[in-house]
Amino acid sequence: LLSSRLAARPTVAGFFGKNNELHSSLKVTRSTQRQVHSLQVNAVQKAEYVWTDGQEGQKGIRFNEMRSKTKVIQNDIPAGSLDFPEWSFDGSSTGQAEGRFSDCILKPVFSCPDPIRGNPHVFVLCEVLNPDGTPHETNTRRLIENILSRDILEEETLFGFEQEYTMFNKAGKVYGWPEGGFPHPQGPFYCGVGLEAVYGRPLVEAHLDACIKAGLKISGINAEVMPGQWEFQIGPAGPLEVGDHVMIARWLLHRLGEDFGITVTFEPKPMEGDWNGAGAHTNYSTKSMRKDGGIKAIEAAIEKLSKRHSEHIQQYGLGNERRLTGKHETANINTFKSGVADRGASIRIPLPVSLAGKGYLEDRRPAANVDPYVVARMLIETTLKY
Ligand code: ADP
Ligand code: MN
Ligand code: MN
Ligand code: MN
Ligand code: MN
Repeated sequence: LLSSRLAARPTVAGFFGKNNELHSSLKVTRSTQRQVHSLQVNAVQKAEYVWTDGQEGQKGIRFNEMRSKTKVIQNDIPAGSLDFPEWSFDGSSTGQAEGRFSDCILKPVFSCPDPIRGNPHVFVLCEVLNPDGTPHETNTRRLIENILSRDILEEETLFGFEQEYTMFNKAGKVYGWPEGGFPHPQGPFYCGVGLEAVYGRPLVEAHLDACIKAGLKISGINAEVMPGQWEFQIGPAGPLEVGDHVMIARWLLHRLGEDFGITVTFEPKPMEGDWNGAGAHTNYSTKSMRKDGGIKAIEAAIEKLSKRHSEHIQQYGLGNERRLTGKHETANINTFKSGVADRGASIRIPLPVSLAGKGYLEDRRPAANVDPYVVARMLIETTLKY
């Protein structure tokens, strides 16, 4: 899929710029448009239905890439997420069905403003269902809903998702890297500033604004250790909400990249060699961890996580073994290690948490292409069910 995301796309820039013919033809139609507008009694809403596809890599681990299509809603604009109508799509074109019986159902579960099209247009995030209404096997969101028992709800779990990603240009090179060569070795880029240090900031800023206007719980952005690599954070938010907001934020990044001539990838190790990979550190807390003396609950959770390391690793992203080498701020994939302020650990206890004796832990193992619903479910299952 990386190569398909890197395939050449026509540019938007220049299309509307100097094309006088296009402008004059617009003028001709303007009076007609005015008539149409005056006849229009009811509002029209463009609802972008967004879902996660079923493309698989090795060992059946999915890529979690985004798909979407537009539904034009005339007259009856729904009030809330659950009021949008169900819809269907061709699952045989997204890795979610066989050709002979290929309709899958889109079930709206979350909606928010569409900052690109503007008011009153919206995004409608959907779960995917089989034709008989049962959850599709790619529907990992439903698996969280299924485990949220009363005991778990009382713990009010919170998640902070650090989504790293890498930018590529149309030629398939890391965005901003010099023609036919490499930038300076890693060092000056993380949280850097200046033309030599950071590449692609206009897209990053546009994405941040879009996430804020969409009402997503975005909590920050930063340039990463490898130039051309960036991060945004979503959270703290509950287990369903964090995934919903990450999915819309990922879609927005791909979509805005179209306008900037930038391909965004969540590939865990986009450049071999002495370059950092891209992860999705997941910060996690329960009510017991956040109250005074919560460090005991954090340590107990880490003990439980150590016993299920391999189960977590299997679900933590396709190609993650190329990232979790033990170098570049990671622990080796076969080792479970925890520590205070240790960025070479599997689980890190942030220094302020250790000092306060309460707070949250950071699971540093998930790859950038991980399914956020899977991480949230596994953290809950391992720490609160076992
Ligand atoms: P890092 O120092 O690892 O780069 P970041 O600042 O990028 O950390 O991300 C930290 C994340 O942790 C943020 O998304 C933040 O919202 C989240 N977070 C803060 N407090 C909690 C908490 N109590 N529970 C879960 N997540 C939290
Ligand atoms: Mn069609
Ligand atoms: Mn971070
Ligand atoms: Mn980071
Ligand atoms: Mn982190």
